[in-house]
Amino acid sequence: LVSRKKHPDNTVVDVKGEKIGDGLQRLIAGPCSVESEEQVFAVAEALKKRGVNLLRGGAYKPRSSPYDFQGLGVEGLEILKKAGDRYDMAVISEIVTPTDVEKAVDYLDVIQIGARNMQNFELLKEVGSTKKPILLKRGLSASISEFIHAAEYVMSRGNTNLMLCERGIRTYETATRNTLDISAVPILKQETHLPVLADVTHSTGRRDLLLPAAKAALAIGADAVMAEVHPDPAVALSDSAQQMDIEQFNTFISTLRDAQLLKDGV
Ligand code: PEP
Ligand code: MN
Repeated sequence: LVSRKKHPDNTVVDVKGEKIGDGLQRLIAGPCSVESEEQVFAVAEALKKRGVNLLRGGAYKPRSSPYDFQGLGVEGLEILKKAGDRYDMAVISEIVTPTDVEKAVDYLDVIQIGARNMQNFELLKEVGSTKKPILLKRGLSASISEFIHAAEYVMSRGNTNLMLCERGIRTYETATRNTLDISAVPILKQETHLPVLADVTHSTGRRDLLLPAAKAALAIGADAVMAEVHPDPAVALSDSAQQMDIEQFNTFISTLRDAQLLKDGV
């Protein structure tokens, strides 16, 4: 179902009026974790000012250590929904448990399936049974073929509102947190008809690489770039080394727009 051979036209996923995959390139931004209403509203306001309508934020955080911040859960989803209503933005957040999907549908415009759950087949089937747009991330050690099969799981249940996101893979390289597999973007565009995104934050794990990685991803044909923005990354409860503050975000988006790589802002 995801193969371009069977479906030559690009799939366009309508996320609250943002038509992802329509040929214009977009930014999805927001904090790693939802920490408070103030924090999310501060980021949402800054993004909205620059014409970004797609707000991300984690409420259920799949952390490597059980002692790290695990997210605010449903309270985080409530904060996101409030921000989406207040600033007229679409909100995107990860769900990690099949039983949370039904509830998440009421709060979110896009359900994200994180890298660690790319092969959580019960979760894939559950989100595939909804009509919600789904953002499926590539697993940390997943081949492109395994990634495409995971997408097939979602679609096989009837949900065609699916987007794929390259987010870096595990390699021997230690200079970056993961290795951004930039060629996965055109391969996924060729092999499937789905919108393809690139997450520059989790792939690089380095704030100084966000801009060059975003330029590369957009130049190679990504439909959107995802990047993390926090009002004060130094005190962030997760991913503090790689989130941009609001000033850095403003420079980031201006540089991409000057290079004519992004959809015009409002
Ligand atoms: C995220 O986007 O919040 C996240 C945890 O990313 P990934 O699943 O790609 O590690
Ligand atoms: Mn993060």
